[in-house]
Amino acid sequence: MNYISTRDSGYAVSSAQAIVAGLAPDGGLFLPETLPEYTAGELETLTKSGYTARATSILSRFLPDFTREELHQYVCRAYAPEKFPPKAVAPVVPLDENASILELFHGPTCAFKDFALQLLPFLLTASLQKTGEDKTVVILVATSGDTGKAALEGFADVEGTKICVFYPDGGTSNIQRLQMTTQQGNNVMVFAAKGNFDDAQNGVKRIFTDQDFASLLAEKGFVLSSANSINWGRLVPQVAYYFSAYCDLVNAGRIKLGDKINVVVPTGNFGNILAAYFAKHCGLPVGKLICASNKNNVLTDFITTGTYDRNRDFYVTSSPSMDILISSNLERLLYLLCDRDDGKLKGYMNELSATGKYTVDKTILEKLQSEFAAGCADDKQTAETIASVYEKTHYLCDTHTAVAVKVYQDYAAKTGDTTPTVIASTASPFKFAGSVLPAIGKAPSGGDFELLRELSEATGLQAPAALAGLRDRKERFTDVVEPAKMKDAVAAWLGVK
Ligand SMILES: *Cc1c(COP(=O)(O)O)cnc(C)c1O
Repeated sequence: MNYISTRDSGYAVSSAQAIVAGLAPDGGLFLPETLPEYTAGELETLTKSGYTARATSILSRFLPDFTREELHQYVCRAYAPEKFPPKAVAPVVPLDENASILELFHGPTCAFKDFALQLLPFLLTASLQKTGEDKTVVILVATSGDTGKAALEGFADVEGTKICVFYPDGGTSNIQRLQMTTQQGNNVMVFAAKGNFDDAQNGVKRIFTDQDFASLLAEKGFVLSSANSINWGRLVPQVAYYFSAYCDLVNAGRIKLGDKINVVVPTGNFGNILAAYFAKHCGLPVGKLICASNKNNVLTDFITTGTYDRNRDFYVTSSPSMDILISSNLERLLYLLCDRDDGKLKGYMNELSATGKYTVDKTILEKLQSEFAAGCADDKQTAETIASVYEKTHYLCDTHTAVAVKVYQDYAAKTGDTTPTVIASTASPFKFAGSVLPAIGKAPSGGDFELLRELSEATGLQAPAALAGLRDRKERFTDVVEPAKMKDAVAAWLGVK
């Protein structure tokens, strides 16, 4: 199975090459030429295995450059008991009669990005070997909070790699910042960048496209790579947990093998929900994919009207990991909805970069709406949902998950659809304690670590050790750089001048 570019269906590379490159040279994203297909019998086999076997099975169908044994080894190390609770890598918890919560936050950084970023270092270093690349790979990451920490945790002390993260100075929660600045490891570097997330992201993009810098790095034995969610190696591990959730529902007697489920995903860059779409198109019985947004509801509008328009105000919300106006992974879906017509896809993407918007034709809109539903929730509704769910069921949601729960409730009320539903829970409520605590009626009285303690006392839940333990960790990285100086900062860190 080869991987092609969304902007050139004729440009084909191997799965290992796609992981090394991250982005196609024409700026397109990589997609498998054909999707693997799971039969009902194969699905039944998966119900009888644990998480690592399920993940190995899914990965091996997408990544033919790797043997099953290799993938099994990576999966066992990525989801090892010291990183994820052994019996509950991705547990499914009933919420009400129809809905269940898929908890994706039990990894080392308390957000779902650990599923991909614990595995990516293994996939990337092996892909470098398989493609004959012998340079040290330097991962550059711009983050609004969760990706940076998850990538640092995944790549810390991984041989043959170095990782450098830029976060917006003052643009993350204090807990998120401390998670990054206290990071251990001999190959890691963290900078605060002046400005907002877009400035940091643009700075990183400038470094990536600087050919002179790339040549200088190559001379010194370095090659740049990316760990953000445009990399196929980040998407495919996420397909596995939708299969796993389905199997768990079968085993719990909540559904019968072959029954359809709906999936609700709190969405930013469209990576997580796209993984659910791939699961569906590989044979997992899925009905509607429900895309949940916060006040930055560019995707709600797109799915409802067919017009994608990023020319709008940007809001800072209580679910910051979804504060995004350009959902990069939507390009992959659009390419498939265009029936792999790369010319048509390029037309839309050119319009987007020229005018900030595009409108898909009627056929595409119909296909989109036959598979996806969408909705949004503002901060007030998010807080009310955290409160009402907690009151009714004693289940504590984080702000991102609460957006998804609210959108699910609205969808069910509007359509009367009673299909069993999986709601992806993307972060621990403790990671966003500053918003969760007031939502359940407790006024925060102290600093960040007080918040964790107060939330713990109010709910009887234990704060994740990875967050509570930050209090005693020393901050290693305190440098603040101007976006224009980011390249110099990377060069100085690597000792190339
Ligand atoms: C990254 C993130 C999201 C958005 O996921 P996408 O794959 O970008 O759509 C939602 N919630 C949390 C907590 C996140 O960290």
